[in-house]
Amino acid sequence: MISISHHGATSGVTGSCHELTLTPGIKKGSDPTGSDPNFKPRGSAGILIDCGLFQGQDEGRGASASDLSIDFPIDHIRALVVTHVHIDHVGRIPYLLAAGFEGPIICSEPSAIMLPEILEDALKIGFTRDRQLIERVLGLIRSRLVPVPYGQWHSVFAEDDCSLSVRLQRAGHILGSAYVECDARVGEVEERIVFSGDLGAPHAPLLPAPQSPERADRLVIESTYGDKDHEDRETRRYRLKSVLEHALEDGGTVLVPAFSIGRTQELLYEIEGLIHEFGGVPLKMGSDPTGSDPSFNRESAAGSAPSLTWESLEIIVDSPLAAEFTRIYRGLKPYWDAEATDLVSQGRHPLSFEQLTVINSHEDHLNAVDYLARSHRPCVVLAGSGMCAGGRVVNYLKAMLGEKRNDVLFVGYQAAGTPGRDILTYGPRGGWVELDGERYDIRARVHQVGGYSAHAGQSDLVRFVSGISIPPSEIRIVHGDADAKRALKRCFQSLSGTDIIIPSE
Ligand SMILES: [Zn+2]
Repeated sequence: MISISHHGATSGVTGSCHELTLTPGIKKGSDPTGSDPNFKPRGSAGILIDCGLFQGQDEGRGASASDLSIDFPIDHIRALVVTHVHIDHVGRIPYLLAAGFEGPIICSEPSAIMLPEILEDALKIGFTRDRQLIERVLGLIRSRLVPVPYGQWHSVFAEDDCSLSVRLQRAGHILGSAYVECDARVGEVEERIVFSGDLGAPHAPLLPAPQSPERADRLVIESTYGDKDHEDRETRRYRLKSVLEHALEDGGTVLVPAFSIGRTQELLYEIEGLIHEFGGVPLKMGSDPTGSDPSFNRESAAGSAPSLTWESLEIIVDSPLAAEFTRIYRGLKPYWDAEATDLVSQGRHPLSFEQLTVINSHEDHLNAVDYLARSHRPCVVLAGSGMCAGGRVVNYLKAMLGEKRNDVLFVGYQAAGTPGRDILTYGPRGGWVELDGERYDIRARVHQVGGYSAHAGQSDLVRFVSGISIPPSEIRIVHGDADAKRALKRCFQSLSGTDIIIPSE
């Protein structure tokens, strides 16, 4: 029997965690588990796909360690396959090791580079401050990593009565992200099972779009945006440009609460593109500086100091982790898409342009907050955390929310209960937000540019499935709000001969 189960919940404190189990000697349809969902007959072998921590509560903060400990049997688990290094897919790896997991951690080559970095941060925040313990856990993780190139089969185990191989394919979500094809064999029965992980939007900057699997007898698919489509890339880019222009015309700071991996790099890439395209054009209201004025002269406009041009716009990344991942992204150009590679061959540096400043030390951070709060030089600051629930962005918010000339630009999802959600909800009504137990009035303008989500939209997910030449006999919809799952289920209803399942989590 070849079975799929789900240990992760999309609410509560656990993130994605799926299991594929091979049990020789038991035929499909019989129920050996009886009423015990954790029953595993002797001789079964399996793998886990991801082992994550839910992000909405600021990466599990507030949950006690016992909530996070691994509450399912793992003796038969031969390997963990990681689809990508977002914390809701990898955050519980330390707990998996603590529970006695001894197998390899299989992932793509870029993920193998990024995983220890992201887990180091997660460990510091939620696990322990004991430096030696952190080093020990990281050492253990590094020793288990098995990087596998995209498109190459890798045998996890091969025995007389059962075998399992996995192959990673580009998912286009964040650098190193993959969907996992599993070739499972039990006795005479063979099956190809595909786990989507998180899929990227096809027109996201930097990464190639995911291609549909050539075959999937069963498919487990994410549905984060199963109920909506994103703005297309050009619309989004135009909106980003106009938000920045409006925001900067009064000499304030645009604060972007940013997630370290994915969105920060996408945003830098788009801003570099805008700077390249509009270089000498003043940053003024209105997208077309020539507008209705036929006598407009770009050069004289550019030269008329002190008006700020795109070229002289300063971008600050104030987050050691985001800076580190930007550095890793820069170093892994072979994984970029054709457009980004083209820019590099033209001598452009999409992730390390001249206008970009990176702040590392805490002292420099405090100086930057102080300087920007007083100066009237327009500037864009990207700082974590993405939902404003901690990190350096909080100091900027405290210093800047009270002034009209400043702006807050959200580019990612803000979960209920986070300061980010409160700023988004109450900011436009002239309300306040509580930061570290104190109220701060919001006079700064608040904007949101959607689409930098790095997730496929509904039509992208449908296209991913319709590209599989023979429809899967079963599709399991996971990872998303209940409404998103139901909406995606309706899209698949027309597939004849396919069972559409939303597993209860
Ligand atoms: Zn993700």
